[in-house]
Amino acid sequence: MSPALPRPGLREVEPYAAPQLDVRARLNTNECPYPLPEAFREDLAAAVRLLPLNRYPERDADEVRERLAEVNGQRVEGTWVANGSNEVIQQLMLAYAGPGRRVVVFDPTYGLHARLAWVASSDVAHIALEQPWRLGSEQVTSALEDDPDVVFVCSPNNPTGNAQPVEIVAELATRGEALVVVDEAYIEFGGQSALGLVADHPNVIVVRTFSKAFALAGARIGYCFGAPEVIEDLRRVRLPYHVSALTQAAGLVALDHMTDALAIVDAVRSERDRVLEALPGLGVEAFASDANFVLFRTPHPTERVWQDLLDRGVLVRDFGRVMPGCLRVTAGTPEEIDLFLSALEEVLR
Ligand SMILES: *Cc1c(COP(=O)(O)O)cnc(C)c1O
Repeated sequence: MSPALPRPGLREVEPYAAPQLDVRARLNTNECPYPLPEAFREDLAAAVRLLPLNRYPERDADEVRERLAEVNGQRVEGTWVANGSNEVIQQLMLAYAGPGRRVVVFDPTYGLHARLAWVASSDVAHIALEQPWRLGSEQVTSALEDDPDVVFVCSPNNPTGNAQPVEIVAELATRGEALVVVDEAYIEFGGQSALGLVADHPNVIVVRTFSKAFALAGARIGYCFGAPEVIEDLRRVRLPYHVSALTQAAGLVALDHMTDALAIVDAVRSERDRVLEALPGLGVEAFASDANFVLFRTPHPTERVWQDLLDRGVLVRDFGRVMPGCLRVTAGTPEEIDLFLSALEEVLR
């Protein structure tokens, strides 16, 4: 018997993976470093206790969508929810990309955009940006060559940290007909949102998440805003009942506690700024950031810096393969950042 074979090329690709290690400072995946407030936990437990789990959940998570629309000044018909923004993006790819269709990404950026485009069997075009990785009209022209179906903009961008000008998103949307997917996973930390473009630009979709500023990476909740026609298309590709009742409950409780959750944003931002201020003094180049992380470059091989930091209990992300010399550190608690800075100083000595 011969073994079954997957689609061509599949085994040449590694599964998405970032180490999940039990260390003193886990600063490699941009999560919120603080646990959820006690009041949130209690409300969530109470909400879960009442759930009728013998029934399928509300199919389109209407209540969560209504609340999200209200909080963000959007129409409910233009609001969509899924299991993390990654699932929103996957659904966008299933609906707008696919075989024979073209997706553009600006590198360096979040690897999942190209990955999910590829999973949907789309053609992916990469446009390389030069430091400081800012999009301009020239890049809009390159992106719109060959009539793409989807163009991704990540703002603030992961892993570089810079936000992109909203005018450039508008230019992409106006000059071309592609769906412009703006990934705003870090927008609560800085940068100007493209949300204001949604009303007048039916080809702009703004994707957000509860994973970063809302401190709910474990709950897997993401959402997006766009034209009602686009949301209708997502409904055509989504799995029935894709957002569990547990997830919907977590989303609603999170929205009730939004002010508490977002209060943490300031603390995280000030740790990010502390990293930005301290690194040059260690002889390390640090790149300005509008997000909850900092990209930095040392003169040493990144594998060594990464391992030496890990040996001191600090886990960061190695981007040396994408950008020579570069690593990324998440803004953690003051204690975690103290540890990171002292460990880095030792490592570089
Ligand atoms: C972390 C991150 C996400 C979050 O994905 P979820 O599926 O919502 O957890 C999305 N986009 C970017 C650019 C990110 O860095």
